[in-house]
Amino acid sequence: MKSLREQLWFEIPTRRGFVNITDTVEELVRKSGVREGLCLVNAMHISASVFINDNESGLLQDYEDWLEELAPHEPTGQYRHNRTGEDNADAHLKRQIMGREVVVAITEGKLDFGPWEQIFYGEFDGRRRKRVLVKIIGE
Ligand code: ZN
Repeated sequence: MKSLREQLWFEIPTRRGFVNITDTVEELVRKSGVREGLCLVNAMHISASVFINDNESGLLQDYEDWLEELAPHEPTGQYRHNRTGEDNADAHLKRQIMGREVVVAITEGKLDFGPWEQIFYGEFDGRRRKRVLVKIIGE
């Protein structure tokens, strides 16, 4: 069995943002040499997500608006978690909804996506260095 483990690093200059990481993950699949297997991509922080959806700017803005409606950043005093001195309770909640990880099948050396599927990193408490793990296994 072949395997590859790599970390992707991000430092989003704003509190929230989305990054399409599909090309980077595809490059790692090529590098792994795996033809048939699985690719796991997960955020290594509890205030960031990895998810799959359409690479369409209107939809990404819809996510931003929807998440901010569900768990507004302000007022920060509305969250018990922020009594610890943090201000990122909303980021934990947004991350929970958008998910921790994705698993994509690798078939004939390629990510086996459905139509329009793309992989995104979702940042909800940015302005610092954070990681995503990519683990590829197969043969
Ligand atoms: Zn926190």
